[in-house]
Amino acid sequence: MDRPLPAPGGFPIVGIVGGGQLARMCAGPAVELGITLSVLAESTQAAAAFAIPSAPVGAADDLEAVRAFARDCDVVTFDHEQVPQDVLAALVAEGVTVHPSPEALVHAQDKLVMRNRLSQMGIPCPAWAQVDDVAALRAFGEAHGWPVVLKTPRGGYDGKGVRVVRTAEDAADWFAHGEPLLAEESVDFVRELAVLVTRSPSGQASVWPIVHTVQTDGICTSVVAPAADLDEELAGELAATGLRIAGELGVTGVMAVEVFELAAGDGAAYVVNELAMRPHNSGHWTQDGSVTSQFEQHLRAVLDLPLGAVTPRSPWTVMTNVLGGDPERHGQLYPTYKHLMARDPALRIHLYGKSVRPGRKIGHVNTYGTDLAEVTARGRHAADYLQGVIDE
Ligand code: ADP
Repeated sequence: MDRPLPAPGGFPIVGIVGGGQLARMCAGPAVELGITLSVLAESTQAAAAFAIPSAPVGAADDLEAVRAFARDCDVVTFDHEQVPQDVLAALVAEGVTVHPSPEALVHAQDKLVMRNRLSQMGIPCPAWAQVDDVAALRAFGEAHGWPVVLKTPRGGYDGKGVRVVRTAEDAADWFAHGEPLLAEESVDFVRELAVLVTRSPSGQASVWPIVHTVQTDGICTSVVAPAADLDEELAGELAATGLRIAGELGVTGVMAVEVFELAAGDGAAYVVNELAMRPHNSGHWTQDGSVTSQFEQHLRAVLDLPLGAVTPRSPWTVMTNVLGGDPERHGQLYPTYKHLMARDPALRIHLYGKSVRPGRKIGHVNTYGTDLAEVTARGRHAADYLQGVIDE
């Protein structure tokens, strides 16, 4: 079915550009609230296409496809940030309600725009500069020390588009494209945190407890909610910073502020790494650990409904990502359910309907309870078992 069917009763149709797992995970809350979803999916095999009946296929940068899709929707939002600004501008010009707005979204699309704006706002950032060539990078490295973290301003995810360079010449191939790059000092951080905020068009806002995003080789492998032993004053400051960014940028919907926590000292206690404007991996724990999940909260926000309570359901919730293992040996996920469900009846499994590829995020599990070590171990066990790393 291509066209969305609105539910009787005056319920709206929410259109999501992009058919990944984030759109897919909005399906449950939408069904419960009687809201119809429609997704513009990359293909019939997209994660959301299995869960949402209205999933026309089209590219996010195809103006005609996005325009035709938006015509059937009361509000348009996003599964990812890769919708070009000219496509967004055309929608807005035609009167389509778009959340977040293109003016806000650009700060999650372009890291140079983000760095400029946050620095203007006085928000702690790593030392940074726009570098257009090898000479500019060399000057930055000489001023701030090597290695330098070099980023493509657009299109990166899961560490792709991020490179640690030890000399300016190491990056010569990246400058061959002629695009400016973002150079950042290499931050010696204690751990990575995330602030997950929601803001509605009317200006109501909420913020979940600050979480610790545990990274392995540039990929988030688990999230601990709340971040253990986080200084209370810092937690308050981070929440206030998240709300301030959302307010000043006019963000609507869910936004994640990724943060590096610094060692206690004289200067700032943190620097902001980057922004994401959509439900985010750092918020998957809310599906089972918060009164309102980030997916329901995002729907409420883009529809300008009152936001839900963000109270945790448990002292600790841990989200553990499930990465694809060897597809030959561990391509079949369903057979793992019997053992996992029998072993841990409180385990919450969330898979994305994606085929298994090594290292690909194919799902996550949530565990919760009163003992963090035990909650962490249960999550790790389940993810390892699903990935085929262990067999009992
Ligand atoms: P992506 O957009 O691909 O998620 P990020 O900008 O978040 O890229 O960078 C990916 C990872 O690289 C971060 O999670 C962090 O571990 C590391 N990183 C990024 N910027 C810096 C920096 N300035 N200093 C040290 N590590 C960094």
